[in-house]
Amino acid sequence: MASKAMAVADKSMAQNQGKRTGSRGKQKLVSLVVPVFNEQQAIEPFLARIDDVFAPLAKTYTYEIVFVNDGSRDATEFAIRSRMLENPRLCLVNLSRNFGKEAALCAGIDHAKGDACIPMDVDLQDPPELIPEMLKHWEKGAKVVNARRSGRAEDTWLKRITAQGFYRIFNRLSEHAIPQDVGDFRLLDRQVVDVVRELGERVRFNKALFSWVGFETAEVTFERPKREHGTSAWSYWRLWNFALDGIFSSTTAPLRIWTYTGAILALMSFLYATTILLRTLIIGVDVPGYASTIILILLFGGLNLFAIGILGEYIGRIYSEVRERPLYVLRSVHSGKEKS
Ligand code: UDP
Ligand code: MG
Repeated sequence: MASKAMAVADKSMAQNQGKRTGSRGKQKLVSLVVPVFNEQQAIEPFLARIDDVFAPLAKTYTYEIVFVNDGSRDATEFAIRSRMLENPRLCLVNLSRNFGKEAALCAGIDHAKGDACIPMDVDLQDPPELIPEMLKHWEKGAKVVNARRSGRAEDTWLKRITAQGFYRIFNRLSEHAIPQDVGDFRLLDRQVVDVVRELGERVRFNKALFSWVGFETAEVTFERPKREHGTSAWSYWRLWNFALDGIFSSTTAPLRIWTYTGAILALMSFLYATTILLRTLIIGVDVPGYASTIILILLFGGLNLFAIGILGEYIGRIYSEVRERPLYVLRSVHSGKEKS
């Protein structure tokens, strides 16, 4: 595992030393990773807005857009491919069916070649005008630039309450907190992207992975506008399952709870059983068989829970092992002989 972590860091450092940027002279490549699912109407306005944003930056930055068609059943693919004929900056990754946004995002990140990578929604709810500000923070040295929604005024009250509840529960349980109201829209340096790509887990909760990686992080804020075209593909049921995925893949706390619950219950049962036993010995038998039956039930109930808790401890460890996350992530290594 340690060697894997080293490999991750080595690779990204080599890339950082100008290997990627060298081929394009001074221009840096920014990859926009855009998962799309039944978004035929949104492609055109999205491309227009991106063009407007990057036109004044053309001296320093060039961009590519990696669309990931997540099994769309409408003319999304056609809309993208027809624009590809005249726009060499576009790249299309077609998935064989709908795999969900998280998987689509991973596919896009795998195909992005940029020095920085920005996952964003196609519906313009992640305003492209924020990108120049993100790039400024990146130039100043930030490896991750989060875009935080300044409020949730345009959400329904139910969405607001559930979202707040989720962040509270998640951050209390998980070992690594995630910033509230920061979605997938963020800038990731190539070094970070390479680490994220090496993480071994299959159930992906990208938001948590992006935070787990660490590195210097900056933040910009924005007002999230309403969707321009189409409707959201996220129902409450889907969001609920997404929240469960997030919590269970980021913490083994729900398994651990049973060790303590079981131990406390077993202890309480033992104390209660002792009192019943003493009472029966001193006062005598009230109902024949009551003392022995209740003592057995309490004892075995407590022992069962405790045993489940112990199993949970091992399952939690197996889970951590199979994810094969690197033990550590290097930011850089320096030796005394280096000239500064
Ligand atoms: N999306 C996707 N696969 C899905 C659902 C959504 O690729 O199964 C894409 C969608 O096309 C959009 C982005 O993910 O570009 C965000 O989706 P949506 O706007 O529905 O989510 P919301 O903004 O409501 O969170
Ligand atoms: Mg949206």
